Amino acid sequence: MLKDRYNRVHNYLRISLTDNCNLRCFYCMPEEDYAFMPSQQLMQKDEIVSLAKLFIANGVNKIRLTGGEPLVRKDAAAIIRALGNLGVELTITTNATRVHHFIDDFVAAGIRSVNISLDTLQPEKFQLITRRDQFFTVKNNIQLLLDGNFKVKVNVVVVKGLNEQEIPDFIEWTRALPIHVRFIEFMPFDGNRWKSNKLVTWKEMLAIITSKYEIEAQENLPNDTSKNYRIKNHLGSFAVISTMSAPFCAGCNRIRLTADGKIKNCLFSQEETDLLSALRSGNDVLGLIEQSILAKQKELGGQFSKDFELINTDDLHNRSMIAIGG
Ligand code: SAM
Ligand code: SF4
Repeated sequence: MLKDRYNRVHNYLRISLTDNCNLRCFYCMPEEDYAFMPSQQLMQKDEIVSLAKLFIANGVNKIRLTGGEPLVRKDAAAIIRALGNLGVELTITTNATRVHHFIDDFVAAGIRSVNISLDTLQPEKFQLITRRDQFFTVKNNIQLLLDGNFKVKVNVVVVKGLNEQEIPDFIEWTRALPIHVRFIEFMPFDGNRWKSNKLVTWKEMLAIITSKYEIEAQENLPNDTSKNYRIKNHLGSFAVISTMSAPFCAGCNRIRLTADGKIKNCLFSQEETDLLSALRSGNDVLGLIEQSILAKQKELGGQFSKDFELINTDDLHNRSMIAIGG
């Protein structure tokens, strides 16, 4: 069991398959030109499976694939199918632009739930946020997943002045569709133009929603990062994710493995532990994993506190989100 100094058991592994992506969301990628990692620097399929097996042997029971965009990787289908054989819950976070090529792979691998990023219901704004013209592909693929009886969660990063006025439109979307919309507080990463005055807190999001709807709180599971709600007679539901204004570090069970095989014990950790080099040179990988979990800070990677107004982004040391694997 992978337990840290604060008795948190780490049983949920998020594996980034690549830092490459076919979209260019401004909140995820650094402003300046970003060079994607060369493919030999990435974990290869068999290395991903070996590392996943080691984590599973030590208590991991859920794996999420992420990136960058996991489905732009050429051997994504083979990796998904290989991980599907390991007997743990497998899920994926994707921008959904390529989902239509992977439905059979998802089914074969036992994936039942898919998280999709979509920050706007307006095609022109989608182009503004992602710098790509893929809105209708994403919308169609969400419907394709619903038709295939997948559980669909839609991640919306809420940025002040950009899309908070659309929160009620997303809520309206849950009326006739069984989707679960998750409104996420905007987080600071290397070069992503974060400013505290761009943050819409979960309380502000709820205020926007309750001005128009009567909401019912739903059960939150022990390791949930979201506060869950529904609206009477809506088929879908929604949640707010309060990473910045009310962090949920006390219940954290997550370990992140970057596409180049490094553990990040927290989304905001400065430290990384290189598992891939150890694996390639035949050194003790489990020892490194245990050390990394033991070194995990109590809250927010030890880099800031929930007083997000005090954050000076120049003082933060981290990768960009696209290179971490969200
Ligand atoms: N490409 C896939 C996607 O977009 O779903 C997976 C990787 S993406 C980095 C994972 C999640 O991180 C997405 O839901 C995205 O919206 C979220 N994310 C990226 N940058 C963020 C930020 N600065 N603040 C909050 N969430 C962010
Ligand atoms: Fe790509 Fe996802 Fe980042 Fe957007 S959020 S740039 S889709 S990795």
